[in-house]
Amino acid sequence: MKRFKSIAIDGPAGAGKSEVSKILAKNLGFLHVDTGALYRAIAWYMLNNSIDDKEMHNKLDKMKIELKFQNTEQLLFLNGVDITDKIRTQQISEAASQISSFGFIRDFLLSTQRNLAKHNNVIMDGRDISTIVLPDADVKIFLTAEVHERALRRMKQLKENGKNCNFEEILESIRVRDKNDSTRKIAPLKPSKDSLIFDTTGLSLDEVVSKLLKYIKGVI
Ligand code: C5P
Repeated sequence: MKRFKSIAIDGPAGAGKSEVSKILAKNLGFLHVDTGALYRAIAWYMLNNSIDDKEMHNKLDKMKIELKFQNTEQLLFLNGVDITDKIRTQQISEAASQISSFGFIRDFLLSTQRNLAKHNNVIMDGRDISTIVLPDADVKIFLTAEVHERALRRMKQLKENGKNCNFEEILESIRVRDKNDSTRKIAPLKPSKDSLIFDTTGLSLDEVVSKLLKYIKGVI
C-alpha cells in the first residue's frame, strides 16, 4: 500500500502557518489542510444556534463537516453549506479557541484530520499536529514569531479581507488565544520533541517559504 507523506506545521495564532503552508503545498504538490477551520466550523455553529458546550455534546452527530479542495484552495462545508468565508472573524477566532479545550470536540475532529493524511500527501497546519494528530509525520515544524509581529500580520490579513480591525484588540485577542491554547489540559500548543522550531520574526513570507522548502526537501 502506498504510504503518503505528511508535513505537520504547528504554532501560535498569526505565526503565518496557513499562508506559508498554502505556498509550500503548491510547490510540493501536496494538499494543504488548515485544521483551525474545523474548530472554527464548530464555533460558528454553536454561536449561530446559541448552543452551549453541554448541548453541543448531543449535536455533534448531526454535524457533517467537510473540507473540499478546489485547485489549491480549501473550502469548508457544514451540513452541505459553504461557510469558508463566514468563519474568518475575530469573534469566531476567540470562540474557536475556547471550544478547542473540550476533549469531546477534539476527539470528534481527529478522524477527519487523520483520514485526510491517510489518503493524500498533506501539509497540515494547526496546534497539535506534530504531537497528537500525526505524530509519525515525515516533517514537523513549529512556526512562531514575536507577538506584536503576529498581531500586525493578522491585522493586515483582516484588512485585506475588508474587515474592520483595531491593532490593540487584535494583540489582546492573540495573547488570550496563546494562553488558552498553550495552557489547556488536552493537546496544548507546544512543539513536539522532534520539531524544527522556526522563529519567523523579521523575515518576509518569501524568506520563510524558501528556507522551509529547502529544509523539507532535505528531509523527504
Ligand atoms: O489556526 P486558527 O486560528 O484558525 O485556529 C482557531 C483555533 O482553533 C485556535 O486558536 C485553537 O484554539 C484551535 N485549534 C486547535 N487545534 C488545531 C487547530 C486549531 O486547538 N489543530
